[in-house]
Amino acid sequence: MIPFNKPFLSGNEYENIQKALSSGKLSGNGHFTDCCHKFFENRYHIKKCLLTTSCTDALEMSAILSQVQPGDEVIVPSYTFVSTANAFVLRGANIVFADSMAENPNIDPKSIETLITSKTKAIVVVHYAGVACDMDPILKIAHQHGLFVIEDAAQGIDSYYKGKPLGSIGNFATFSFHETKNIHCGEGGLLAINDDEYIRRAEVIWEKGTNRAAFYRGEVDKYNWVDIGSSFLLSELNASFLYAQFEQIQFIQSKRKGIWDAYYEGLNVLVNQGDINLVPLPEYATNNYHMFYILCNDLNDQKGLINYLKSKNIMAVFHYLPLHISPFYANEHTGGELKNSIYFSERIVRLPFFNDIDSGQIEYICDQIITYYSK
Ligand SMILES: *Cc1c(COP(=O)(O)O)cnc(C)c1O
Repeated sequence: MIPFNKPFLSGNEYENIQKALSSGKLSGNGHFTDCCHKFFENRYHIKKCLLTTSCTDALEMSAILSQVQPGDEVIVPSYTFVSTANAFVLRGANIVFADSMAENPNIDPKSIETLITSKTKAIVVVHYAGVACDMDPILKIAHQHGLFVIEDAAQGIDSYYKGKPLGSIGNFATFSFHETKNIHCGEGGLLAINDDEYIRRAEVIWEKGTNRAAFYRGEVDKYNWVDIGSSFLLSELNASFLYAQFEQIQFIQSKRKGIWDAYYEGLNVLVNQGDINLVPLPEYATNNYHMFYILCNDLNDQKGLINYLKSKNIMAVFHYLPLHISPFYANEHTGGELKNSIYFSERIVRLPFFNDIDSGQIEYICDQIITYYSK
């Protein structure tokens, strides 16, 4: 079976874990956490980074930092992972789902505008497949109405919007280092804070509601319970693994580009025949080669192709089921049909994508897809 994903080792993970073990500190906020923070802050022009145990946790921190209260409304795309919405539901927010654009699965700025009310507190955007949302019109709406903008950049590492790194644009941004992402440590995440005034509070929430970070810096002589918070820190074991991956990011990204380009060339013939479609990259965005997905012509084709590939030992997969019609939230959703969210849900097929996949395997996968469409 060619799996959909296989966690990649870049080479120095064992050595770094060894160093962490002999350092005598394995809990969070140690040497490797610091290395990861500095790396990310410098490379992506982010004011303050905090490693978390997942992107889900980073989203929960951003919901606390946005001071979302019960009854507040938060605008979230329907076409996303549950954590994007769940983090705000945990604070008592009502989720107002926005549709995707017609051109790609990202949130449609025009649909956001129609959803703003006096209760709106924040807009959450998701850079699907690491391709930037159209941030300028979204920031404009947010500024007009005094709203927070949170980037769910779980898939968005090393990608750019008009030259700006994803994750450096909103008030807060969240990244995932889950093993299915470009850079990983099994499970892990990061909160980016781009607004100076929230850095102190973020550190407190990160450290279970205490001012321990300030204590470690020698700024206070005792640490105390000062706010709400949780145990959001990543262990040094994971951080040491993660730092080994950070150091190899250029190599990892170039490998992924090779895979993406090979799929693109291999499947071009089907695009030309109209059997499948590919989503074009907007002129304002870059590709970070997070995933390779195709659009089938309809739901039947999506199911048929996935099943056919499974019979040929290839794990291709669909993606999100729209959250506005999910078992948990369908009854709460009062907005429209959100046709584009459903459209992408019924057409996207993601192909196996991991750094060690070889050109023979990619060729085999493309051949099988071509065979499926020749029948
Ligand atoms: C992967 C992903 C998440 C969740 O990341 P975890 O680190 O597993 O919590 C959230 N949002 C999006 C868009 C994702 O792709």
